[in-house]
Amino acid sequence: PAPALIHALVNAVAVLIIACPCTLGLATPVAIVTGIGRGAQAGVLVKHAEALERLAAATTVLIDKTGTLTEGKPQVVGVQSLLGDGEAELLGLAASAEQPSEHPLARAIVQEAQRRGLKLEAAESFQAEPGFGVEARVGGRRVRIGRVADAAAPVGDFATATLVAVECEGVILGTLALADPIKATTPEAIAELHRLGLRVVVVSGDREATVRAVAESLGLDGWHAGVTPARKQELVRELRARGERVVFAGDGLNDAPALAAAEVGIAMGTGTDVAMQSAGLVLVKGDLRGIVKAFHLSRATLRTIRQNLFWAFFYNGLGIPVAAGALYPFFGLLLNPMLAGVAMSLSSLCVVGNALRLRRLAL
Ligand code: ADP
Ligand code: MG
Repeated sequence: PAPALIHALVNAVAVLIIACPCTLGLATPVAIVTGIGRGAQAGVLVKHAEALERLAAATTVLIDKTGTLTEGKPQVVGVQSLLGDGEAELLGLAASAEQPSEHPLARAIVQEAQRRGLKLEAAESFQAEPGFGVEARVGGRRVRIGRVADAAAPVGDFATATLVAVECEGVILGTLALADPIKATTPEAIAELHRLGLRVVVVSGDREATVRAVAESLGLDGWHAGVTPARKQELVRELRARGERVVFAGDGLNDAPALAAAEVGIAMGTGTDVAMQSAGLVLVKGDLRGIVKAFHLSRATLRTIRQNLFWAFFYNGLGIPVAAGALYPFFGLLLNPMLAGVAMSLSSLCVVGNALRLRRLAL
């Protein structure tokens, strides 16, 4: 039977060898593509597939405060002037200088001035320093608004509000206090991240009293206040150097360097374009429960990839020896090349079918 037997063996092995990379090659991409699709339905946009693959292994989540943990729609709750009754003047001056700024604090200040019917002046030679504040000329005077760095700035009754100092020609005129409520969905999201075994730490440019109050009310595992954009990125690098797998979640211009440096950067879809460009994942609605969904999706996708690879290897590991006549000496069994082809197509279908189950993943 020699020539016919050899012919059949060669054919069957050839079919399997041609088809085998097809199944193996499908195993990972089809799971990732399906996972990305499922994420999109749930409001989690995957921009980089590696972000989805890496997320499951994360150990620490660093989260920006303003706009990420909080609504990011602060409101002016206090105007404290050092000039006696100069409240309106202080607010008007600050609002005038903040007009060109896109920072949520700036928008809140301008809005409050408009609400009070104050007349705003044009801001000239405007400059913004992300993470610190802004500077502009208003009516020829140099106005600076930003972080409270000077003990002369009044805190008043606003122990846990965000405070910004207003300075004119180098003299502190007073402070504005702004309150930014925590998003209604944040406490639940933090509790779930804790249940997943992650450490959650807030990193903010805001002052200590405000950041600590937020960390305590949410039961976070740590806080860093007064952090500059460059320092946010450094914190990510330091943690990674210590072997932590770091996720950074943020929304602002000031978060972009940290988002890019983290193992996985997660931007709020409600935040700045720069943050979204620097991130691997985007939460469309800016709802932090999206991080939890992304984690489940990441774990399920990796599980599917592992199953697929297992089945692809299993099939091929079994199929190729059988096609090569491994069972012929014992049972006289040979694989018809046609059957080998069908078997391999079925194995690819198996892998695709298994991956498509991700579409029904509950998130
Ligand atoms: P976060 O890290 O909480 O998102 P930022 O880094 O954007 O905050 O800002 C840090 C601090 O810098 C603010 O709490 C505020 O004191 C000051 N600041 C930044 N931008 C402005 C601005 N446009 N007007 C006033 N203050 C600002
Ligand atoms: Mg922010």
